[in-house]
Amino acid sequence: MPSRGWGHPGNFARIIVLSFSLSPLQTLYSELYSLDASIGILGWDRQVLMPAGGADSRANTLASLVRMRHEKFTSSQLWDLTQQQISAAENEAERNAATHLLSDIAREKKIPVSLVERRSHATSAAYTAWQQARIDRNFALVIPHYETLVELSQEMAEAIGGSDEPYDALLDRYEPGATTADLDQMFGAILEPLISLRSKKLSEEPPALSNRLDRDWEQSKLRDFAESMTRQIGFDYQRGRLDIGPSAFCSSTDRFDVRMTTRHSTHIKGILSSSLHEMGHGLYEQNIRPELAGTPLGHGISLAVHESQSRLWENIIGRHPAFWDFFFPQLATYVDVSEFDAHSFSRAFGAITQNPIRVGSDEVSYNLHIFVRYQLERQLITGSLAARDLEEAWNDAYLRVLGIKVADVNLGVLQDVHWSRGSFGYFPTYAMGNILGGQIWRQLHREIPVAECLMSGNFGPVLDWLTQHIYSDGRTLSSRQLMENVAGSYLDPQPWLDYVHHRYEVWS
Ligand SMILES: [Zn+2]
Repeated sequence: MPSRGWGHPGNFARIIVLSFSLSPLQTLYSELYSLDASIGILGWDRQVLMPAGGADSRANTLASLVRMRHEKFTSSQLWDLTQQQISAAENEAERNAATHLLSDIAREKKIPVSLVERRSHATSAAYTAWQQARIDRNFALVIPHYETLVELSQEMAEAIGGSDEPYDALLDRYEPGATTADLDQMFGAILEPLISLRSKKLSEEPPALSNRLDRDWEQSKLRDFAESMTRQIGFDYQRGRLDIGPSAFCSSTDRFDVRMTTRHSTHIKGILSSSLHEMGHGLYEQNIRPELAGTPLGHGISLAVHESQSRLWENIIGRHPAFWDFFFPQLATYVDVSEFDAHSFSRAFGAITQNPIRVGSDEVSYNLHIFVRYQLERQLITGSLAARDLEEAWNDAYLRVLGIKVADVNLGVLQDVHWSRGSFGYFPTYAMGNILGGQIWRQLHREIPVAECLMSGNFGPVLDWLTQHIYSDGRTLSSRQLMENVAGSYLDPQPWLDYVHHRYEVWS
């Protein structure tokens, strides 16, 4: 196991927090934290509980809060106090924490407040339009909104600057330090092996009964099973909840209030996969050490590291045959799966299929779904693709890359919520998360008898290992430092490719 350069990280986290909690910086930061928490809860409410008539009023409230947050975050007072904290730091870890905060502020300072406010209004309107477009199955309804959001994203990329490639500035907001060059290298290494494994598997006889999963399932029963399953794994419902929403997400104010949703769906893969996925995010947030709550270190490091956990629990663990040895008998008490046994269910659940939907798709196809989105959104940002041509470009790319003919716009370009939120640069973090998850899995597997743990429902050792190595330190390290400590390198695709090969050539 690679060792951590700083000895036991917990001691340093405690030093940072002690020093931070006594500093004037904390007083100012706690106001920012309260604004973040309010924005988060109102955003959750908008998607889960708010009556449709509240949309305009909520859009105004959120835009005001977002503006106030931006003004406070980019104030010269916070900048000066953070700089003083760097000079006054008594060790490297403490200096690192303040440096992270300063670089976040520096990035945010480049974005004018008027742009932040316009973007908040535009995303509220686009989200409402996206919901209506899905009801009407009509992409045209979102075109003007996507045009606006692309323009605002271009404006933001220009304001942030720092690279000839405008997409880099957007990506950096989700995965600090990552560039399109990193992504091109990563996709360059995985595309060919994935495409060839996929076409080989699709040409073979599919696993028995795999088409029997494609029917309408009882959503409420599966949601209840998902709650029971995630509770047994270790998600703490005293500090969290699981609801059904129009899209699956996980938001948290801190480790004490972590809210997950699973998407409206009648498909068993969609419901169970998205529940396990969001639980991965939730376990990360709930297991950050309590002393970090309310400080700049009290959340996960970056989106790619976060997605490494959601994708690890959703797929590598959540589709492991031993996992279903334990959970299948329980599932059978919620829904009728009498034609399956644990083995045939897990093979059918993980089967490679021609599924047009990203969420719940098999692990080999998943990164191809992301590759398509990465290519399209990069073209949107560089201006070589217009939003009005996006539906056609999407359908062409699906046919070319995945061999899938998109028959319904809701199963095509309207399936994801991300672009309606203006989140260009977000999608690649899922693929990066898969790769990081593969590296983490290799190490976890070497140190813990994972299969025995899963088969007996003994999730404690797995969760403890992940907490100790990934979760507990929050943002104390950068994603690069964390991965070097845990796995010896950052974004090495080989362990994940080895895993996928093993999964589809040995397990099923
Ligand atoms: Zn996620």
